[in-house]
Amino acid sequence: AEEEATFAEDTGVSDRLRQDRPHSARMYDYFLGGKTNYAVDRSAAEDAIRRLPTLRTTARVNRAFVHRSARFLARECGIRQFLDIGTGIPTAPNLHEVVQREAPVSRIVYVDNDPIVLVYADNLLGSTPEGATEYVEADLTDPGAVLAAVEEADCLDLSLPVGLSLNAVMHFVPDDVDPYGVVATLLDRLAPGSYLALSHVTHEFAPEAWAQITEIYTSGGTPLRTRDQAEVEGFFDGLDLVDPGVIVAHQWRPEAASGPTLVTNAQSSLLAGVARKG
Ligand code: SAH
Repeated sequence: AEEEATFAEDTGVSDRLRQDRPHSARMYDYFLGGKTNYAVDRSAAEDAIRRLPTLRTTARVNRAFVHRSARFLARECGIRQFLDIGTGIPTAPNLHEVVQREAPVSRIVYVDNDPIVLVYADNLLGSTPEGATEYVEADLTDPGAVLAAVEEADCLDLSLPVGLSLNAVMHFVPDDVDPYGVVATLLDRLAPGSYLALSHVTHEFAPEAWAQITEIYTSGGTPLRTRDQAEVEGFFDGLDLVDPGVIVAHQWRPEAASGPTLVTNAQSSLLAGVARKG
C-alpha cells in the first residue's frame, strides 16, 4: 500500500484513483479475494454479495474462463498475439503467463481505463525473453483511440491474427455508446484468422438479484448493463463461433483443474464464447 501511494503520488495518478467511490476493477479484485481495494469498494461489493451470495463464485468462474479461453487460443488455434481490453487489476496467473506457458513467443497488449490498473501494471509487464508485453491506458468506449494506442505501443503486428479478449467488460458499456459498434470497430482492424473471446454478466438466471446489483453499481457511478443470451450472442455477429457456442461460462470447455464447474447457472450468471473472424 505504501508503494502504491508513492507511485501514485510520483506519477500524479493519485488524484484519479477516486477512493471516494467504488470502482469495478477494485470490486472485482475484492470478489476474487485480492487486496487491491478500498473501504468504499468493499462496502459496495458486500452490498452486492448480500443480493447474490454467490457473487464470489461468479468472479472465479469468470477468471477460470479467462484462463481456459486464452489457453485454447494459444494451444488449439495457434494464436501468438493477444489484445486484452478491460484487463483488471493484475491477478496471478495473468493472461500473458497463461499463454506464454503454451508459447513463450506470445506478445500481449493489455488495456484498461482505470488508473489503479496502471499503478500495478508492472505485474503485467514481466514477459518471457522471447515474447513481449505492453500496457496501455485507454477507454474501450473510444475504440479508435484504443487502436491508435495499440499501434503506438508497437508490440503487435496487426497484419497477423490477434486474440481479442473482452472478458467481463462489455457489461460496463451501456447501450448509448453503441457496444456492438465498439466491438465491430475493433474486429474490423484485426486480420482474418483473429479470434474474439468474450464473457458477460447475464441477469437471466437470477433476475431480481441482478436488478438490485445493477442498481448498486449504477448508483456508485458505474453503469452496469447485464444482457441476455441473444444480446450476448450479438457481439459475435459475423464471426464463426467455436463449439459449444455462447454458453454459461462454467460450461465452456470445462477442465477438471480450472476453476469451479459444479455450479448452477444462477451462481455463474455469466455467458461466454469464442469465435473466429473468417
Ligand atoms: N478482464 C478481467 C477483468 C474484468 S473486471 C477478467 O475478466 O478477469 C472489468 C475491468 O474492465 C476493470 O478493470 C475496469 O476498469 C475495466 N473497464 C471498464 N470499463 C472500461 C472501459 N470503458 N475501457 C477500458 N476498461 C474498462
